[in-house]
Amino acid sequence: MRPQILFPLFADVSRLSGIGPKLGGILKRFLGPSILDLLWHLPNGVIDRRHSPKIAEAGDRSICTLTVLVEKHKPSRLRQQPYRVICSDATGELELVFFHARSEYLVGLLPEGETRVISGKVEYFHGKKQISHPDHIVKEDDAESIRRVEPTYPLTAGLTSKPLNKAIGGALGLIPELEEWQDISWLRKNDWPSWRQSLMRVHNPQSEKDNDPQCPARARLAYDEFLADQLALALVRKSQRSIPGRAFHGDGALIDRASAGLPFSLTNSQNQAIKEIFTDMEAPHKMMRLLQGDVGSGKTIVAFLAMLKALESGAQAAFMVPTEVLARQHMKTIEPLAGAIGIRVALLTGRDKGKARDEILAGLKNSKIKILIGTHALFQEDVVFDDLGLSVIDEQHRFGVHQRLLLGAKGKTPVDMLVMTATPIPRSLMMSCYSDLDSSRLTEKPAGRKPIETRVLPVERLDHIISRLRVAMNSGSRVFWVCPLVDESEALDLAAATDRQKMLDSYFPEKTALLHGQMKPKEKDLAMKKFAEGQVHLMVSTTVIEVGVDVPEATIMVIEHAERFGLAQLHQLRGRVGRGEKTSSCLLLYASPLSQTARSRLEILRNTDDGFVIAEEDLRLRGAGEILGTKQSGLPQYRVAQLMEHRDLLESARDDCKLIMEKDPQLKSKRGEALRALLYLFEKDAVIQTLQSG
Ligand code: ADP
Ligand code: MG
Repeated sequence: MRPQILFPLFADVSRLSGIGPKLGGILKRFLGPSILDLLWHLPNGVIDRRHSPKIAEAGDRSICTLTVLVEKHKPSRLRQQPYRVICSDATGELELVFFHARSEYLVGLLPEGETRVISGKVEYFHGKKQISHPDHIVKEDDAESIRRVEPTYPLTAGLTSKPLNKAIGGALGLIPELEEWQDISWLRKNDWPSWRQSLMRVHNPQSEKDNDPQCPARARLAYDEFLADQLALALVRKSQRSIPGRAFHGDGALIDRASAGLPFSLTNSQNQAIKEIFTDMEAPHKMMRLLQGDVGSGKTIVAFLAMLKALESGAQAAFMVPTEVLARQHMKTIEPLAGAIGIRVALLTGRDKGKARDEILAGLKNSKIKILIGTHALFQEDVVFDDLGLSVIDEQHRFGVHQRLLLGAKGKTPVDMLVMTATPIPRSLMMSCYSDLDSSRLTEKPAGRKPIETRVLPVERLDHIISRLRVAMNSGSRVFWVCPLVDESEALDLAAATDRQKMLDSYFPEKTALLHGQMKPKEKDLAMKKFAEGQVHLMVSTTVIEVGVDVPEATIMVIEHAERFGLAQLHQLRGRVGRGEKTSSCLLLYASPLSQTARSRLEILRNTDDGFVIAEEDLRLRGAGEILGTKQSGLPQYRVAQLMEHRDLLESARDDCKLIMEKDPQLKSKRGEALRALLYLFEKDAVIQTLQSG
């Protein structure tokens, strides 16, 4: 149960005085239902009204707070003309300008012959000084009511700053003084205020500085958020750990036979990853491991050996991938390897219906089928395994932490999970999104891979590019040509790709094909098959080939409008070539003019082939959402913290969390109790339930 002291913060926002049902409704939709949600809505700027000059000294376009005498009203004669009020002080004249004003209102507000304090932006207009629609007009006695440093907030339709400011003012009055949950010496070292003081300060800025992410109040709140997040993940992870899992001990026979049949020897990284995975699988707890490695680093074979490990104990394994093309691809790799040692593998996609599907389902139930590869069709309700032991999920950045937690539910006992991603995840992101997983990294490329020659060219040199392609294609090369994301609209992307294919087809008749996301799975397969078999030599596509496609003969990758892609994405696309014997190349085409920043971004790709380096750069340049794909990323939506601005704090919060988990994993000490309140403040209620009641 939530501690009583927090109740006022979780009260309905419309309980605040001055918030009627209408405004309450808007706030709930915009920010969330509680008073706390309102308090987490932090200013995004300040208006500094401390400058109080005489009229003569008021600079153009400066925010000023002026004490003036109201001289004369000049109502507008025509509707389009503004209403003017002439004011003055000893040094000069100032006009207040109002459009669409009601004159009774203005006469009441600014009676001629009286003094008023006015705040707003002064502008010079035709040699006169004016303020149009001053933000504040008050009597001299009320001058103090104008906040000298006024916070501004993100707004939404129907919500203006005055009532929002008022509501937040009311909410601030309800913040209780809570026990400190941060380590006291750490707090002192940073010179941070208490949680309550921090929120007060951020909402009552004293200057522009209080808006800086690094200012003490904001830094403290960001740290709190990271700490709550890390702690919640650590607790989830611990409770996952305590789920008894199956201990897979086989005799090693299947694995030995399969390894002996491989046409290559495993890289050191692969061996290391396999060792880590096997250790997890042998232990009597549920495995939750992430396997990271660039495209082509050989994750599939690692997954295959892990599946055999489960099979040796009589269990089955599932291999889930995001697309059908990829499911087929994995089937093609795994089926022969499995077949050679007498293991039956089946493929299940959304396309399988009727009898074929029934047969697969029957084979799963009676355990004739040992490995099932498929798309999310795999998680349909009627897909029932006899004894599922391991789930492998490929390209998993499409799932969030919470979905991940749900995916284990198909087995009798908790199923071991191996999650694979080809998007190398920078360390700071790893900590914030994946710290519920252990991780293995494939850092080496399989032997014999040739480096890919990467060039950056303006698309205007299309003629030159085409003649290069002609030479290469004549000597048997195959080419991927990726068309850009034009905008958010799939239809437009498709139009661009279709046009490009037509155009290229006029140069290379009968030699090109088109692949895009709106094609039926059958059509996609057919197009890929033609390309893989060499009936066509040039495959124009939208970014659907991003995931997993393996055509060793493809040696040239052309990416149009490369400047519009993220670096990590370009790196992934580039990884589609360079898998065969011949030297491969990647042409990054851009539309001129290319800005200096854009050019240096593309240069990074030219200079390195290390996915982890590229991911760090991408994170630095574009932010986290871009790397993992904004919406589906499962990226935590922080309220206060900013991943890039506060990454050092994230590291510290993680270390802090480790210590807490070592010393007081049940959060029972005095600090532990305070930390529970912190978890509630960041709405990690579910996690608190995993703790014994304290
Ligand atoms: P990923 O899934 O990481 O993109 P794959 O598992 O598809 O990579 O492997 C890419 C290619 O490299 C496949 O053709 C695979 O057979 C081959 N491969 C994997 N491991 C090795 C290795 N150790 N040596 C040589 N080739 C390998
Ligand atoms: Mg793969």
